[in-house]
Amino acid sequence: MKDSFKHQGLRQKLVEVIKKKGIIDENVLNAIGNVPRHLFMDSGFLDHAYQDKPFPIAAGQTISQPFTVAYQTEKLKVKKGDKILEIGTGSGYQAAVLIEMGAKVYSIERQQALFKKTSKFLPKIGYHAKRLVFGDGYKGLQEDAPFDGIVVTAGAPYVPKPLLEQLKIGGRLVIPVGTDSQRMTVYTRTSEKEFDKEEFDYFRFVPLLEDKN
Ligand code: SAH
Repeated sequence: MKDSFKHQGLRQKLVEVIKKKGIIDENVLNAIGNVPRHLFMDSGFLDHAYQDKPFPIAAGQTISQPFTVAYQTEKLKVKKGDKILEIGTGSGYQAAVLIEMGAKVYSIERQQALFKKTSKFLPKIGYHAKRLVFGDGYKGLQEDAPFDGIVVTAGAPYVPKPLLEQLKIGGRLVIPVGTDSQRMTVYTRTSEKEFDKEEFDYFRFVPLLEDKN
């Protein structure tokens, strides 16, 4: 399975679609235009890879809609060299978009099968995260903190405190908050103890699950 002119052409159309939906950050659009999304999907869904839709992946999870990935990435305001923590590695697509933008990516996944699959797959197609971790995203990643940005790619019933605590001053947490549907919320750390909160559009994510033990 490789990239091809056909796939590149379809990707450029996808970029136009998400541009029309309101994404303006050129770096984000370039990254979406460069990451071969079809490689992240099970072969049965290949034809759908460049439609702006979410799709099922392994273990009952989904690869987020490209617009949603672009939207969250734009809100993160990623600069080259930024240290970014992602909660919910899933297929690795969001991680690849961040790596494509020059971020140092740390990502946590709680489903072991997905963690294993994506840990093998991402380097195979040339995307090298700093660290992929099997664990609970509610806890963040204390040993590698602080981060310039944290992006949660599952619906959080509430904002986990460790994620706020693991931001640099000036750093941003982009998190969809809610149960049935989620409101995209951005927290910016303005000082040791203070955060700015901004609320944006509503989305539907798979739930950010809490460990029962
Ligand atoms: N970022 C992914 C989208 C994944 S969907 C992509 O680009 O494909 C959300 C992911 O969050 C799922 O893989 C799910 O298993 C994971 N997840 C759910 N609860 C979690 C938790 N507490 N910690 C880490 N990952 C979690």
